[in-house]
Amino acid sequence: MSTTQQRQSPHAFTVDLEAWFHAHNLNIAPHKWDQLPLRLDQPVQQLLSLLDKYHTQATFFVLGYIAKRHPTLVTTIHQAGHEIACHGMKHQRVDELSESQFRDDVACAKNTLESLIGEPVIGYRAPAYTIGSQTHWALDVLYELGLRYDSSIYPVRSPHGHYGIPGAPLSPTMLESGLYEFPLPVWQLRNHRLPAATGGYLRLWPMIITRQTFSQYEKANRPVVVNVHPWELDPDQPRQQVPFMRRLSHYTNLSKTVTRLDQLLANHHFSSLRDLYQQYGKEGRSFAVGAPSFAYWQRVGEGCAVP
Ligand SMILES: [Zn+2]
Repeated sequence: MSTTQQRQSPHAFTVDLEAWFHAHNLNIAPHKWDQLPLRLDQPVQQLLSLLDKYHTQATFFVLGYIAKRHPTLVTTIHQAGHEIACHGMKHQRVDELSESQFRDDVACAKNTLESLIGEPVIGYRAPAYTIGSQTHWALDVLYELGLRYDSSIYPVRSPHGHYGIPGAPLSPTMLESGLYEFPLPVWQLRNHRLPAATGGYLRLWPMIITRQTFSQYEKANRPVVVNVHPWELDPDQPRQQVPFMRRLSHYTNLSKTVTRLDQLLANHHFSSLRDLYQQYGKEGRSFAVGAPSFAYWQRVGEGCAVP
């Protein structure tokens, strides 16, 4: 690793710990979940081996459903030194919940995880990244529930409108409540932003887009938050008949995920989001003056000069 890379703040490696049948693209009704195999042991073991190979600690955003159905998997991840964070209880999109339903869902998941691992859970990621312009109230609820950082916001306009705040900052930001936001990464071309380097986009886009995204973020000394789902390491998962675009998004390049993650881990330094949160807090790397509120983010809009 070069000296330049060693001076860089680490990037964040995150996993959304859920089963293949939780993916919204597959649209599998919750009443069927208990009858379906989780298929998590093998891909999680692959992820743990990969992280161990590069001495990297990651953040696992765990769905409460998984903690209840397969608690030993969660304790195994925790005992391997990784951060356990919260992904809600039942993988419901935030934009489909009322404020009180959201509060109950997150509180239940957080309590479930904390009882299991015996330590506080401080991080949250919304199912399908669905904290956006219409659901920013959720961030205040998270802080009230004791969460200290969130990593749900895509600073883009999403094609279907479920997620994204187009003008949101690309760098980690402390909100007025005190909650830190670690946004998902984008590839920038002039004033345009495309989601990149994480989730399905790590599989869908050619690796040159991922490499350019890392290069853009490293030049600005901001972390790329990589995210992956265990089912993205499982090319043999049961195939569902879903519309073409959903099929494309869910099944493309599943067999390439491990190699791509290995390349990223070999070439960049990663840590958990808890470590980044502690580091940013210590260095006071927040927007202490003129803290961007959601009103600000919405005012600057798409194509703004990003912080
Ligand atoms: Zn999820």
